[in-house]
Order: sequence, then structure tokens, then C-alpha cells
Amino acid sequence: MTASRETDWQALDRNDPLAAKKAAFRIPDGVIYLDGNSLGVLPEAVPARMAKAVEQEWGQSLIRAWNEHDWFTLPQRVGDRIGRLVGAAPGQVTACDNTSINVFKVLAAALSLNPQRKVILSDSGNFPTDLYMAQGIRDMLDKGHELKVVAPEEVAGAIDDSVAVMMLTQVDYRTGRCHDMAALTKKAHDAGALVIWDLAHSAGAFAVELDAAAADFAVGCGYKYLNGGPGAPAFLYVAARHQDRVAPALTGWMGHDAPFAFDLDYRPDAGIGRMRVGTPPILSLSALDAALDVFDDVDMNVLREKSVSLCELFIAEVERRCPELTLASPREAAVRGSQVSFCFDNGYALVQALISRGVIGDFRAPDVARFGFTPLYISHADVIRACEILEEIVKTRAWDRPEFHARAKVT
Ligand SMILES: *Cc1c(COP(=O)(O)O)cnc(C)c1O
Repeated sequence: MTASRETDWQALDRNDPLAAKKAAFRIPDGVIYLDGNSLGVLPEAVPARMAKAVEQEWGQSLIRAWNEHDWFTLPQRVGDRIGRLVGAAPGQVTACDNTSINVFKVLAAALSLNPQRKVILSDSGNFPTDLYMAQGIRDMLDKGHELKVVAPEEVAGAIDDSVAVMMLTQVDYRTGRCHDMAALTKKAHDAGALVIWDLAHSAGAFAVELDAAAADFAVGCGYKYLNGGPGAPAFLYVAARHQDRVAPALTGWMGHDAPFAFDLDYRPDAGIGRMRVGTPPILSLSALDAALDVFDDVDMNVLREKSVSLCELFIAEVERRCPELTLASPREAAVRGSQVSFCFDNGYALVQALISRGVIGDFRAPDVARFGFTPLYISHADVIRACEILEEIVKTRAWDRPEFHARAKVT
């Protein structure tokens, strides 16, 4: 049995059309990195690009670099590259700020487009910052808005004609459960609601089809599957049909129609440019831009196929080797993102013990051990090796050492 299973996964690696991509990343020796959904690894192309941006562009061109190196349009250029990965035609995505701030910007914009209605519909599988930002907007606007948070499986049934905006994260950060973007968007539109999708755990992980789903707004992170580095700029999508009607809430000068006219009154730029606020972080944007190079020749459907294969192998191997762990993710690939989570009472200590052996996943309270599978640099052999180490730690209770129970600030 074991022999045939090994042949199976070895054949998968041998025939992997993405196998060569691993060389495009710097992965430390001895590390199996199953946390690319929290912070992607360093792409080979980034250090040289950073050195160029610092030493030549900033160091030599100084202020002239805004024109000489086209810094001014970098947010839009990076945005369009991300747009290809999330199914958005050019001119609808810009790279800017962080995801929390972009949630604020698109939620304020969406609410202003549907002023008669007062309900923001979201779900308890959303990442807290999205809900926190909604609470802040609700309180700041003071126009009687209500944030309605239902269980993920109850979202469809909660869409009615009171909903102004449905704001959901497509992939649940704990379980990996993935919402049906097209179906929920259609249902919300039929009820007269606008839709915001948070693609934090979708962008770069599988093919997203924002335009095809007729989404209204979207946001997402640059530092997860897109590998843009710690604190990388996030992105924001506004469907072309809304762009000239959207009144930005954060009316910064970089979103002005003519920032260098220095008018005293705000006048929004035409198109997606109005969603910019202040001076873009050129060094971080340069890193993200270089990180996106690895996606240039990647077919997102091929990427998805490998992701499903990695996740299915992991689930089968963990369940076979470690019955003490309970699958917390959907078993069916069609409703799962590119991560797999297992519940274990001592999940925190288990993850720390794994990290000490080079298998880096992460822990999410209260008891979830979460493993992200980034098909660009994870192989089936990595999955098997990670499962061998996990099995050994569970069987020997190696996790039950005092140092693995001590909580760090960032988990
Ligand atoms: C990771 C994540 C964020 C992070 O927001 P930042 O402002 O970049 O810290 C936001 N929303 C979701 C759904 C996430 O998974």
C-alpha cells in the first residue's frame, strides 16, 4: 500500500508543470513552509529589484525618479498585474494602503452608492479587521447603519431588500471554507445589494473571476500568496461601471484629478485613481512588483489543480497517520481554498513543536493548526515529509514540552 502511494505522489512531482518555480524563491534550508498564506516567502527577483530601487532610483535619480522611473504610475501598473490574477480587466485594480484601510475605503464607497439601505451583511467567518472597520464606519456615519453578522452557511438566506452591502471574505482564514462568489454576488444583486469581496486568501492562490462574477468591489493582501513581503501594499478593485460614481471617503491629494495643480478644493480623479490617498510606498511597491514576476507565465487553473492535489494528499496522510487530529476544513475541494486546518486540543503547542522541526504552519485560536499550500514552491514530497514529522510529534507527544506551551505575541 505504502509503495503504491509513494509512487503516486512521486509521479505527481515528476509531472508537475510548476516544479521549476521553486527555484524562483529563497526557502531556507530545512524549512517546509506551509505559511505562505500568512507571509509568502522571498522571491529571488526581489532583492535585486530592491537594491535597484534604493541605490539607483532613489539614490541617484532622487525626486526626478517620479518621472524617470515612472514611480507615479506604479500603483496602477502593479494593480493591473494583480488584476490578471483576480479576473479583473485593466484599470480596475490599484495597489495601495493595507487591507484594513482598503476595506474602509470600499465599504464607505459602497454604502454611499446605496444610501436608502442600512444593513451591512457579513459573516462570522470573516477576518476580524473587516468587521472592526465596518463597526467604525457604522459609528462614524451615525446614519442608523446596522452590521449584521451571520454564520457563513446562513449568508445566502440573510440576503434581502434591507441589505445595502454584502461584505464577505471569500476564504475563511481559519477553516479554508470558500464562498461561491458568483452565486452569492448574483443573489445580492437580485436583491438590490452591492457586494464587496475580500480576497486576502484567494489572490494568487487560485483563479478568481471578479469581472465574470460582476463583483462591485474587492480588496486583498499583497504579502500572502502574492509574496510581496511584510507589510506589502494591499490592493483594491472597483468595477469600471462604478468608478465615476464613487465618492471617496478618504479624499487625499493622490486621488485628486490634478494633484500637482495644488487646488484648494478636492476633485476626484477619473477612474480607479481616485481611490488612492497619499504618496505610495515606492520601495514596498517595487518589491511587490518584482514578486509578481513569478506569476507571469502561470496559468491559474494549473496552479489550482496542484493546490487541490497537495491539499488532498495532506488530508489523507494526516488522517491516516494522526487520528488524534480532526479535520476543520471542508473535505470537498470545490468549497476549500488553498489551506487545510486541523483541530487539536493542544494546537498551539503542536504548531510550535512543528516549527522547531522546520515545518512552519500557524495556529489560530482556539485550537486550529493551519497549513497553507502554495503550489509555486511546495511539492508533494514536502507534504509527505511534513506529515512524517507531524506523526512523530503526535505519537511521541513531543509537543508537550514547556517551551512549546509559552505563547508569543504573534501567533
Ligand atoms: C490577512 C487579512 C487581512 C489583513 O489586513 P491588514 O490590514 O493587511 O493587516 C484583512 N482581511 C483578511 C480577510 C485577511 O485575511
